[in-house]
Amino acid sequence: MEETAPTITKTTCPYCGVGCGVLATVAADGSVAVRGDPDHPANFGRLCSKGSALAETIDLDGRLLHPEIDGRRAGWDEALDRVAETFSRTIAEHGPGSVAFYVSGQLLNEDYYVANKLMKGFIGTANIDTNSRLCMASSVAGHRRAFGADTVPGSYRDLELADLVVLVGSNLAWCHPVLYQRLAAAKAERPEMKVIVVDPRRTMTADIADQHLAIAPDGDVALFNGLLAHLAEAGALDENYIAEHTTGFAEALAAAWRLDMDGTAAETGLDRASIAEFYRLFATTEKVVTVYSQGVNQSSVGTDKVSAIINCHLATGRIGRPGMGPFSVTGQPNAMGGREVGGLANMLAAHMDIDNAAHRERVQRFWGSPVIASAQGLKAVDMFRAVADGRIKALWIMATNPVDSMPDGDMVETAIRACPFVVVSDVLGATDTVRHAHVKLPAAAWGEKDGTVTNSERRMSRQRPFLPLPGEAKPDWWIVTEVARRMGFAEAFSYASPAEIFAEHAALSAFENDGTRDFDIGTHAGIDAAGFDALAPFQWPARRAGETSADDIRFFAEGGFFTPDRKARLVPVTTTAPARVGEGFPLVLNTGRVRDQWHTMTRTGKSRRLSQHLAEPFVEIHPADAAKYGIADADLVRVTSARGAIVVRALLTSRQREGSVFVPMHWTDQFAADGRVDRLVPPLTDPTSGQPALKHVAVRIARFAAAAYGFAVLTEKPEHIAADYWAIARCEGGWRVELAFAAPVADWSAVADAVLPAATGTETLSFQDAVAARRRFARFAGERLLGALYLAAEPVAVPRDWAVEQLSQAHADQRARLAILAGRPGKGSEDKGAIVCSCFGVGARQIAGAVVAGCHTVEAVGEALQAGTNCGSCRAEIRSIIHAHRLQAAE
Ligand code: SF4
Repeated sequence: MEETAPTITKTTCPYCGVGCGVLATVAADGSVAVRGDPDHPANFGRLCSKGSALAETIDLDGRLLHPEIDGRRAGWDEALDRVAETFSRTIAEHGPGSVAFYVSGQLLNEDYYVANKLMKGFIGTANIDTNSRLCMASSVAGHRRAFGADTVPGSYRDLELADLVVLVGSNLAWCHPVLYQRLAAAKAERPEMKVIVVDPRRTMTADIADQHLAIAPDGDVALFNGLLAHLAEAGALDENYIAEHTTGFAEALAAAWRLDMDGTAAETGLDRASIAEFYRLFATTEKVVTVYSQGVNQSSVGTDKVSAIINCHLATGRIGRPGMGPFSVTGQPNAMGGREVGGLANMLAAHMDIDNAAHRERVQRFWGSPVIASAQGLKAVDMFRAVADGRIKALWIMATNPVDSMPDGDMVETAIRACPFVVVSDVLGATDTVRHAHVKLPAAAWGEKDGTVTNSERRMSRQRPFLPLPGEAKPDWWIVTEVARRMGFAEAFSYASPAEIFAEHAALSAFENDGTRDFDIGTHAGIDAAGFDALAPFQWPARRAGETSADDIRFFAEGGFFTPDRKARLVPVTTTAPARVGEGFPLVLNTGRVRDQWHTMTRTGKSRRLSQHLAEPFVEIHPADAAKYGIADADLVRVTSARGAIVVRALLTSRQREGSVFVPMHWTDQFAADGRVDRLVPPLTDPTSGQPALKHVAVRIARFAAAAYGFAVLTEKPEHIAADYWAIARCEGGWRVELAFAAPVADWSAVADAVLPAATGTETLSFQDAVAARRRFARFAGERLLGALYLAAEPVAVPRDWAVEQLSQAHADQRARLAILAGRPGKGSEDKGAIVCSCFGVGARQIAGAVVAGCHTVEAVGEALQAGTNCGSCRAEIRSIIHAHRLQAAE
């Protein structure tokens, strides 16, 4: 029989805003492999650890495969009718303002476009907002008030061309790893290039920095205001650019004078010498790029931070030229696309303005719609407030998990639970949000979806399907369109394919655009199915044929802003975030991402490799703070804010700023007993952008005193874990679980029976040491270990990686079985330590061993152990292990 040749599909990574090109290869046996697309201009073949593990996340485990109504399986017709009827009835009875869509930066442009069109142009309210509100709304607001449009002026290439790259509130190494790798490679090639990291934490990104400014939380306005004042004093302004292309410079400078150097030092928490060195470098370097991300955006003064940064670039004319400019990098794969289609409650479609009557009239005319939203809608935090107080009576959540990601998560969950009608379209059947839906709609996942996304440098790329739609799953654009038709808008939603929607999106962007709107992809307005299939990545604007080349397109080198006078506006900013710490809550909590997980782990949590890196929710604490509160490394810690409390593992590190702690955003009720950091965050937002202040929460910490601890490796995930603390993660062969109990456990066997997989014909060995208060269980099915559970009054000292390996090994003889009960590797087994390189499963102990043996560079470690030689995401951590060991040796 002739063998089928593998098919290779060019698509785009569904995780961060770097937007890497991916080649997905489907072999004859249906197995999938992914690698970086060498031709994609965002990544040129690179992928980070998350991108490299994409093939491990496409199984159907946990997928929602059929529509459900009130917990029972339903057909598509019934489910769509229910959604359309309920929305229509609610609108008829309570007005358009009584319904809302909460959508996502995970949606493709085509999904986003039809959802926005339905809500703003046909339902007639702007109550559609997106989880991108949590990601980059402050950048959008900062861009719009400075440039007159939400325009990112530069390209990724500028980071490589710059002589100075300033990274503000951006852990690029972990959050935008391929962009970090491009920067690290450029710096390795040109060591004279300088990198400055401005961040309260000394993140892995700081390891390539010439200077790390451990700024006080929200001290950025003061730092960049001080910089503007210094640029003026040092004669480093571009007077011509200011005069010809900007307004508001005098007012911005006057605001910047508010603080002298001592005041700047006080507000930033930095010493004068460090500030002066940063200012000197910025003033004397022409090619400067300032990259900023969530540390800037997720703040109650996020928009002002963005303005303070942009002011410095406008005042020096360093914008829109190679190697220069302010550069906002977005968190999500299609946060930028959501901005283009108008997925935010305060925008219209195609970068038109909802507050502008002419724009509204133009969009309504283009759509031929009966109405058009006449005012801004509810932004995310306000939207869930309105759900809570009953103003929103029908809510449709698409491709996002607000119970785990919104501030005040418990309130959000209560609000969703109480809402009269909740629709969730999602890929998974069980998330902390989906479980509350009245109607669950099975959506297509990455690999099945078909459309476009836009990355942080305005580059649009295709996400192409290479897998069949499983069960009854459907693309989001189809679901929205079907509901729109049933609501009586069949003609305007008669699309047969995403290509038709993209063509309309492109046509709207060019509709009556005389060059006063930045977003214009009109050259694609006539695209057909074949053209859409073949569409290569391109940067916008693409007004004319020829502009869709791989050349970088930049804005504003010669002015041409999108304000009425075509000049940029420098915005005077003086605000500082109020100090939030105080009695009872003395520490600042910062939230963010880890290297190998994505958002609420619905996808990356499926990957064994990715779950190896950090398998539990944790809190990073400076050793001095830990000593103050009596906390040791690896203790369990209760972190409490005025809104709630969580229990997570202590990770002591001097990378953390004293007085601040950090907890990752990823853990949900599906992966931990009490690890949802969003329940600690108050619903405090930036007044301009509506973006929540997810990085500045007042908390206290205290050791969680456990009376007993446990660790288990299991082939199956238990239905329920009856422990006060637990955290579960995938591992090779199954699952690993950490446990802790607040009170002494009376019946260990009952705990074992609840946790260990049950099956007929199994054999359970157990061991009890009453003196040391230890109990161990191992359950076998023939030679196969089904699960091992270690319980003790003290933290369990069993090597985790060794225990995990036992799940994949045969245990034929009694000695091997007893070794599992003993919880000790046999002679010759190696304890790798915590996994650093996910691609090759290399642990910290192995790397430390290689360093001791003489490997003193990342490359040498790579040659010895392969670590860091695939995706490169762990290279910063390898560098820091080398550094720590060399310091130790020198002491
Ligand atoms: S950097 Fe990583 S997560 Fe981001 S798009 Fe590229 S491969 Fe995906």
